[in-house]
Amino acid sequence: MSVTITNSGAIVLDKVVCDGYLPGHKIRVVTHVHSDHLLGLEDSIRDGDLICTTSATKDLLEVMEGLYPPQIVTPNYKTSFSYENDTITLLPAEHILGSAQVLVETQNGQRYVYSSDFRYEETQATKCDILVLDATYGHPSCIRPPLSETKATLVNLVRSELEKQNSIIIFGFYGKLQEVMRLIHEAKIDMPFINPPKVYSVSKIYEKYNIPLGDFYSSSSVMGKKILKSQKYAGFYHPLFKPKVYKNSTFIHLTGWQFEAPYKKIGLGEYVFSWSGHSDFNQLISYVKNCRPKLVITDNSRPGSARKLAEEITARLGIEAKPEPS
Ligand SMILES: [Zn+2]
Repeated sequence: MSVTITNSGAIVLDKVVCDGYLPGHKIRVVTHVHSDHLLGLEDSIRDGDLICTTSATKDLLEVMEGLYPPQIVTPNYKTSFSYENDTITLLPAEHILGSAQVLVETQNGQRYVYSSDFRYEETQATKCDILVLDATYGHPSCIRPPLSETKATLVNLVRSELEKQNSIIIFGFYGKLQEVMRLIHEAKIDMPFINPPKVYSVSKIYEKYNIPLGDFYSSSSVMGKKILKSQKYAGFYHPLFKPKVYKNSTFIHLTGWQFEAPYKKIGLGEYVFSWSGHSDFNQLISYVKNCRPKLVITDNSRPGSARKLAEEITARLGIEAKPEPS
């Protein structure tokens, strides 16, 4: 089979392997910097001829993982290149900075697409013969309110908590945190942002690519320490990080697993907001419809609902679909 997903999470599109390691495949695409898409990357660096990714992902690999693959190539989005009779094109994907979908066109005209992780708001669907699809939120119960509604609600909450002289502590994965920094900045809410050092290094890469995030400071800098002792700041942390919190604070957890309503209050001054870098179920179905593939392979190597999603694609769209690995 020229398109498949291995038990170890490698997505195989003819001669190209994405987001996992497979011995014998000499070209690897890194679709984005999240750790579940960097599986076996050091093996690929040791064995491979080419590591292909966007320049933003290359920068993020350096600051987040300390990885500098010597054979890395960084084509621009929508700029194709050839490798052993395959034509490879990275296409934009709305997720973390640098994210890409992958299109491989074979010598005999077959078009294979790997969606990787994406939110189907600004991401474009590409016509293909075989589509490998993210299935994280592939269950029909995974339906979120529109992101625009969640954004408006979040801005209102931040404004009102700030008026009460509360600091805002936000927890989320890399990429989502920067989206919320940008949202608060663009809403013209005047407050400095605090980032722990790793979040700060990611934010600096966003800044390098001209994405405005407002005034942000590392928590370990002199200025950062001074701001932490004030009452008016928003702190942005990885979900596993336990920040030292000064004075009154309001906590916001960003999660893709909050459905139906934009948010839920879970305690005194503590909220869960519906925010994901992934498509929900309805967006997945509509993306597949617009890619018009003959076959969909749903990713069963990463957490999600690959089996159910494949059943729903066939039932709703009449397109052959199967989970892999089975
Ligand atoms: Zn991801």
